[in-house]
Amino acid sequence: MRLRTKDIEEAESCRFLRPRDLFSADGTQNWLEAKEALAELGITRIEPKKPWSPNPRLTTAYAKVLRTGAGFEDKHDEDKAETGWHEHVHYLQRQAIGRHRFNAQYLFVPRRRWALEMPAHRQQITVAVAQGATSLDIEKFAWSVTAKFERGLLDNGYAIPMTRADENLTRRLLMEWGRAVRR
Ligand SMILES: [Zn+2]
Repeated sequence: MRLRTKDIEEAESCRFLRPRDLFSADGTQNWLEAKEALAELGITRIEPKKPWSPNPRLTTAYAKVLRTGAGFEDKHDEDKAETGWHEHVHYLQRQAIGRHRFNAQYLFVPRRRWALEMPAHRQQITVAVAQGATSLDIEKFAWSVTAKFERGLLDNGYAIPMTRADENLTRRLLMEWGRAVRR
């Protein structure tokens, strides 16, 4: 994957991110506020994915419905809050660039998919840190993100072909973000 400067700038951008100090240490509160923020964007339905849909394990921001992955209802509010705020970023991106461009970039251009995913992952880290995540938790998360990209476990199963340099950059950006919001 050949990342362009624009992709990396977007990956590092705070344009769609809610700042650290607006999140609570309480996962229930964060999840409640995520649902409110989603409702403001017109997403009032949060429903489980059908078992036969692509990647039923993953939560996806789709049209006006948040489709949750398998077992979502049984998760802790901390995890739901992280997912809700991750998807919130995707809805804002979708709103900013338009549904068709978002879908085309996300589905067919790996470097653009990476650029769209990174702010969502950073938002997720912000929530996790507010909820008490340690630097080790963030490091584990950063490794899981690169693994997820490579295994193609993203929405619709599209892998992102990662070079070693791409992986290192991805983890570095996520860990740097974790340090920045932990301060
Ligand atoms: Zn995402």
